[in-house]
Amino acid sequence: SATLGVLGGGQLGRMFVQAAHSLGYRCVVLDPDKASPAGAVADQHLCADYLDSFGLAQLARDCDAITTEFENVPAIALETLAGMRFVAPSGECVAVCQDRAVEKAHFEKAGVACAPHAVITNEIELAAIDPALLPGILKTSRMGYDGKGQVRVRTPGELTAAWQRLGQVPCVLEQLLPLAAELSVIVVRGADGAIVNFPVQQNLHRDGILAVTEVPAIGVDAALQQQAVASARQVAEAMGYVGVLCIEFFLLQDGRLVVNEMAPRPHNSGHYTLDGCDVSQFEMQVRAMTGLPLVPPRLVQASVMLNLLGDLWFRGGEGPQTPDWAAVLALPGAHLHLYGKAEARPGRKMGHLNLTADTPEAARAVAAQAAAILGLPF
Ligand code: ATP
Ligand code: MG
Ligand code: MG
Repeated sequence: SATLGVLGGGQLGRMFVQAAHSLGYRCVVLDPDKASPAGAVADQHLCADYLDSFGLAQLARDCDAITTEFENVPAIALETLAGMRFVAPSGECVAVCQDRAVEKAHFEKAGVACAPHAVITNEIELAAIDPALLPGILKTSRMGYDGKGQVRVRTPGELTAAWQRLGQVPCVLEQLLPLAAELSVIVVRGADGAIVNFPVQQNLHRDGILAVTEVPAIGVDAALQQQAVASARQVAEAMGYVGVLCIEFFLLQDGRLVVNEMAPRPHNSGHYTLDGCDVSQFEMQVRAMTGLPLVPPRLVQASVMLNLLGDLWFRGGEGPQTPDWAAVLALPGAHLHLYGKAEARPGRKMGHLNLTADTPEAARAVAAQAAAILGLPF
């Protein structure tokens, strides 16, 4: 049988492997961490650095197609592999997503509006910032995730202090926008240019980390949803992207839609697709990299996803304690997904819970019950 390779061994890689297995593929995971969630379920785990040329050569030798689940995999690793095997997404596309300044330039090139912003790479650019961008959020151009690597600033003095605090690395200053809602759209594009999308997802973040995703986005006007889908497709097409791509949007209080950022892989806000859609975002990644048909995925049940962070294990005050899964699983439509991480830590993504039902209202009601059992706000 054919073998698929994945760079990165986190939970996204784990769910990718599980989807690949159900379509009959073998999987090889390359991750330097011996105890990675994906390595544990893969047919083979190559324990090597992403830049280790021997590890990459071995991955290319053993696999028919290769993908990534890790946004910050060195793009050069993907480019190296692309000389030997089919790779999707490409190193070039991943590189665009890895740098906020380049990413925003791409959004503008694709004709999709993003937040007013300026790039800061040195003190001259810092001093020249247009005060109209304040209050704003200073974000490191590279490596930030889950709200890490960003600081809210109100004044030029705070901006200077924040830039120093972030280590004077290249940053993007974005105007702080008045948000009405946060949305995301996952698109899947094949090597032949075929493109499909999942329905618009509505997301709630807590402390910079995704907490809840709801689909369908019932509170959001249908025309705006269509605009988000069209923009997401435009962004993917403008870079000739192949594979699963998630684009995050802000819906502003004045009704405008602006793009925030994108991730070149399956996304946390798409985890509901495992139970709410007829084809999951992980299966779509498998299909895109193997040339299997990309059918438009259908939402078969209204869904709410609750992220399960390590904090849940410390509710009792003392050491880690497993939450009451039995009580949660007594709810009809509850689907638990745990990532097999040995140690729970606050802020660590340990799993997620999908709640599905025939109507959005019913999905929300069962999510509220699950949240109450777990002690989560909802
Ligand atoms: P992710 O884990 O999604 O990759 P990240 O660390 O890359 O997150 P962003 O998506 O840029 O960070 O921002 C995190 C959250 O901060 C957003 O989802 C939004 O809630 C808020 N935020 C970011 N930029 C702005 C902005 N310009 N105006 C208002 N809120 C913002
Ligand atoms: Mg991000
Ligand atoms: Mg984000």
